Amino acid sequence: MSPSGILLVEDDEAIASGLVRVLDSQGYAVRRLARGGPALGAADDTTSLVILDLGLPDADGIDICRRLRRARPELAILILTARDQELDVVAGLDAGADDYLVKPFRLAELLARVRAHLRRAAASAPAGADEPLRAGDVTVDRASRRAWRGGDELDLRPKEFDLLALLVAEAGRAVTRERIMREVWDTDWLGSTKTLDTHILALRRRLGPDAITTLRGVGYRLEVPCDSA
Ligand code: CA
Repeated sequence: MSPSGILLVEDDEAIASGLVRVLDSQGYAVRRLARGGPALGAADDTTSLVILDLGLPDADGIDICRRLRRARPELAILILTARDQELDVVAGLDAGADDYLVKPFRLAELLARVRAHLRRAAASAPAGADEPLRAGDVTVDRASRRAWRGGDELDLRPKEFDLLALLVAEAGRAVTRERIMREVWDTDWLGSTKTLDTHILALRRRLGPDAITTLRGVGYRLEVPCDSA
């Protein structure tokens, strides 16, 4: 069985105690830290998900996130931020977070995200190697979770990889936001797809601004270059 432990790093007592109570009532093994410094040592093999507040008294949550990601590439990291500015969110995702929630958030939404991340963590040992996917000069190997543009390997965060794999599998065709949320984030929840927007931006930074077309009100399409092999 995969471990499904949750580590909550949150200094706000009211938020932390509420979260611990509700996660515990759902049967999760949850531990809570009020400081960022001990988080690295505390995220052990039984930890599948870290819920990480960015505003911590002793450390920069972004820095903690980066160090967690480096130490544990397979860990799911969900950041909580009261700073709802795009830059903080981008910094968090760039530091390796898989997902984020802006405070104040609804408990039901947090629980849905937690379920999705833990389901994916449990399923992340894939059964059998798939053939690499190709679209133009982009190659995605789902078996090794590596991707290349031309001869250059792309440095992708977990959700960016999953999103790129889906878009490449459907290259030249429209992929709806609903389908992306379902297959990449494992949720039907479409209240806000800001996380998706941010990941699309990240892929455009790596593949070029015209590689992914926004289909307003529908979703996205990966463009296959005319000179593709
Ligand atoms: Ca805080």
